[in-house]
Amino acid sequence: MTESGDDARPVVIIGGGPAGSVCAAVLARQGVPCLLLEKGRHPRHHVGESLQPATLDLLELHLGVRDAIESQGYAHKYGAVYVWGESQEPWSILFDERLEESIDTMSEEELLAGDYERAVQVDRASFDALLFDAALHTGVDARQEQAVTNLHFADDGAITAVELADGQRLPCRFVVDCSGQRCLVGHRLRWVRTSPDLRSVASYVYLEGAGGLPGPLGRHVQYVHSVPEGWLWFIPIGADLTSVGLVTRGSRRWDAEALLQLGERAGLPIADARLAEVHGQRTARHARDWSFHCERFAGPNFLLAGDAACFVDPILSGGVDFAVRSGANAALAILEAVRSGEAAGPFEAYEAAQRRDFRAYLRMARYWYGNNRSVGGFFWEAQQEVPAGAVSTPLRAFVYLTSGRYAADKHLKIFQEWQEKKMFDALGVDRGKVRRALDDRDGDASRRS
Ligand SMILES: Cc1cc2nc3c(=O)[nH]c(=O)nc-3n(C[C@H](O)[C@H](O)[C@H](O)COP(=O)(O)OP(=O)(O)OC[C@H]3O[C@@H](n4cnc5c(N)ncnc54)[C@H](O)[C@@H]3O)c2cc1C
Repeated sequence: MTESGDDARPVVIIGGGPAGSVCAAVLARQGVPCLLLEKGRHPRHHVGESLQPATLDLLELHLGVRDAIESQGYAHKYGAVYVWGESQEPWSILFDERLEESIDTMSEEELLAGDYERAVQVDRASFDALLFDAALHTGVDARQEQAVTNLHFADDGAITAVELADGQRLPCRFVVDCSGQRCLVGHRLRWVRTSPDLRSVASYVYLEGAGGLPGPLGRHVQYVHSVPEGWLWFIPIGADLTSVGLVTRGSRRWDAEALLQLGERAGLPIADARLAEVHGQRTARHARDWSFHCERFAGPNFLLAGDAACFVDPILSGGVDFAVRSGANAALAILEAVRSGEAAGPFEAYEAAQRRDFRAYLRMARYWYGNNRSVGGFFWEAQQEVPAGAVSTPLRAFVYLTSGRYAADKHLKIFQEWQEKKMFDALGVDRGKVRRALDDRDGDASRRS
């Protein structure tokens, strides 16, 4: 281990997207000095707009931004509607179990007025800027237009300093790579492995004047429609702004006209829509969409979080959720390393937990692309990932997994345990002794009864 307990060098976080902002904020809130370096300047465009409900809870817990997010006027997302699988009949998942019974008989007003579990679909430029600002307000030394261009390593493999474009070297105690698909550390160490079966390209546009689905869900939902060319997304992100994209194998980049024709043929509600100019662009945008992971997610004094660690095809819209959670988990691993004076244990635990999440998502995505499955099969597959008894039906297992709830519950457990350890340290109490005493008391009580 290369750090010492009273080391004044900061934790350096590379990349100010969701993973980096959350990681920095969690550390700063616990008084750990950290430096957040973002190559660009917010607000900047980013793909990845459909979020999960658990993400909002984690963002409220660690950044206190729920009200700020709600005040942006982003679209609500109560679930997702799919045309996928053996049948061309639409089917849906709803985050709130109560809606399964009532959605067909309620009005849009009743849906919006209820306290139903939901997520939001966001313009990532303003959303990421909001998270970055929130990190800044927790006391993070957050700097923009500061690209990390080089990394310096010690003989034991620890990163000793990061280098900026102007040649400045910044020494660091720990590093968290949150550089997204740039994978700064992963590429440098040749750790990046792509999944050959999940190599796609995405083409997408923004529209004004698009409609919504029939019924109360209207524009308050994510719509995914499989077509022979791949699959289309229809993601309302505000009252009148909609993101429409195609994910397809191969390398063809679709222009806006071809994309909209395909969408209309598939029945997307875009007949009256026109192209919107977003961040200075009205034409189609394109993104490489290759699933990949790094061979390792941790080194002696560094961790990889968000897309810098791994990326799974966006069919289940889990990217931002994973980024937020792994950013927070990386911060907790560092806090535990600082508390205990030992990094190997917490970093190994971090690596194992993130890898489990990644594998569960990869397995679901692969299963999903086995195109001729029945809908019930997706749900059954999800149930293999969650503990027996955690949910009532395979459908709820699917929702529990893909809403981010399952992984968020695991994160909350790690967070509570860490807070408990910190409290016992502050009181000068041996946590192990307290636990043993409580176990003995419980054992005595059950023997007496
Ligand atoms: C086609 C497509 C559709 C998607 N749809 C969804 C969706 O619907 N829902 C969802 O949740 N996810 C979706 N995703 C995934 C989602 O976009 C990502 O998982 C998410 O943005 C990851 O967050 P992050 O913080 O790890 O990385 P990013 O958001 O990419 O942030 C990384 C930051 O690091 C900065 N950076 C890079 N290099 C450096 C450097 N050298 N120095 C300093 N800073 C640097 C970048 O400027 C950037 O701001 C989609 C992805 C694709 C490709």
